Amino acid sequence: MSRVYNFSAGPAVLPEEVLLEAQKEMLDYHGCGMSVNEMSHRSKTFDSIIQTAEQDLRDLYNIPDNYKVLFLQGGASQQFAAIPMNLMKNKKAGYVITGQWAKKACQEASIYGEAVCLASSADKTFSYLPDCSDLPITDDMDYVYICKNNTIYGTHFKTLPNTKGKDLVADVSSCFLSEPEDISRYGIIYGGVQKNVGPAGLVISIIREDLIRDDVMPFTPTMLKFKTQADNGSLYNTPNCWSIYICGLVFKWLKANGGLVEMQKRNEEKAKILYDYLDQSKMFKGTVRKEDRSLMNVPFVTQSDELNEKFIKEATAQGLVSLKGHRTVGGMRASIYNAMPKAGVEKLVQFMDQFEKTNS
Ligand SMILES: *Cc1c(COP(=O)(O)O)cnc(C)c1O
Repeated sequence: MSRVYNFSAGPAVLPEEVLLEAQKEMLDYHGCGMSVNEMSHRSKTFDSIIQTAEQDLRDLYNIPDNYKVLFLQGGASQQFAAIPMNLMKNKKAGYVITGQWAKKACQEASIYGEAVCLASSADKTFSYLPDCSDLPITDDMDYVYICKNNTIYGTHFKTLPNTKGKDLVADVSSCFLSEPEDISRYGIIYGGVQKNVGPAGLVISIIREDLIRDDVMPFTPTMLKFKTQADNGSLYNTPNCWSIYICGLVFKWLKANGGLVEMQKRNEEKAKILYDYLDQSKMFKGTVRKEDRSLMNVPFVTQSDELNEKFIKEATAQGLVSLKGHRTVGGMRASIYNAMPKAGVEKLVQFMDQFEKTNS
């Protein structure tokens, strides 16, 4: 067996300890003689898996009691529709457009109501975050929406926008559990888990209770009503049992590794190694304004497409894989999530340095 350093943006690297644990439990989960893949979602055993996962997530994020935790399907993209359907009382909301995911969320919302662009960084290919201290938020807006970490462009909100009293809704797919959060500052904070937490097919949505209502848009499908899911403890229908189980193991791993304060510290250390190198390199350049840089997704380029291609090819041969940038940006992107060891980032930087010396 030979494991690579996997810099994929998602689905992405998972902690090796977690994969080994899942392997150990694959045929016989805790003596019940079957795999989690084979058991009823209504069984006592699964009930304990989902309850424990929720409690561990609550501990990690310090989630206040007046927030519900929902384990849902359809990915983050399904939430792009569910959020306006459940929250748009006045049929109007404000969106901060900082990349493709926010743009898609805004476009989806505009099917159901008026989705106003409050600010955008499209003018410079989303390489920075717009000033969000005084957004044109109007009284009739039901919420303000951001994508906190922009997976494709590599920007990250370090301070949250001034929402002028409106509920903040945030997509945190690619920074989920990468740093501590004050959950009480959000109306909804949600993320697809396949970036930083677990296997694809699960989105976790943390929703303040008063936003879980009966009076949603009349055509809202039963499955997309937050109330349906909340009333049934995320078990209205069969959930993604496997992903919930693996996420539960990752939550335990995070707790055993010092929780989110420690995770943030490690993520800062790892990102610094890469950014420090980029800042002094004559060949490789980071594409994001310094103060808006993400700790999770680091896009960078050389001066030519040919050199980018050569770099990606040679890096792959060294076991440094999935470094190709998003098709809309080009160049390279290193996603260095929680489960990426520091040694992986060090090896990447060593290789970049060597590549720079032999190719200039
Ligand atoms: C990947 C990603 C999505 C889309 O997630 P799906 O689960 O595939 O729908 C949405 N938002 C962000 C920030 C992402 O990184």
